[in-house]
Amino acid sequence: MILSTHAVVGAALATLMPSHPVAAFVAGFASHFVIDSIPHWDYPLRSISLRAGARSNWRITAARIRDLAVIGFDGFAGLVLAVGIVGTKANMVAVLAGAVGGMLPDPLKLIYMLYPRQPLATLVRFHNWMHTKRKLDWPLGVSSQVAFASAVIGASVAVRLAT
Ligand SMILES: [Zn+2]
Repeated sequence: MILSTHAVVGAALATLMPSHPVAAFVAGFASHFVIDSIPHWDYPLRSISLRAGARSNWRITAARIRDLAVIGFDGFAGLVLAVGIVGTKANMVAVLAGAVGGMLPDPLKLIYMLYPRQPLATLVRFHNWMHTKRKLDWPLGVSSQVAFASAVIGASVAVRLAT
């Protein structure tokens, strides 16, 4: 899924443990792999391949700058959405930890492409194994992520109201 979706889902989980940022970070991190297993759409990257076995280098090209800008915007939008939708003064640290934990496995994949070492190798293998092999087409694959993130926020609100 795209980073914004991971951030919002991680943040929604964090609202269930508003005074435990470390637990929120771990919950967000774990949620990444679970929701990646749902068929979805990811925006195409032109210069960075995150496929299994891909290798990368530090060469700077226009396509790579564009890719990094898209990823950066996605991640930043994710933080803004997470804080904007579920953040309060009381849960802010946990919400940010949940959002960052939710997004982290993807940048770790990128780091692994540049530094293919353990323990990242095992983590990336697990990530690829969990990731859905079914790719949805554009409009459905995007709207389903919005619907899914909204459902997770709704569920987290319901759980909070019930407890
Ligand atoms: Zn992922």
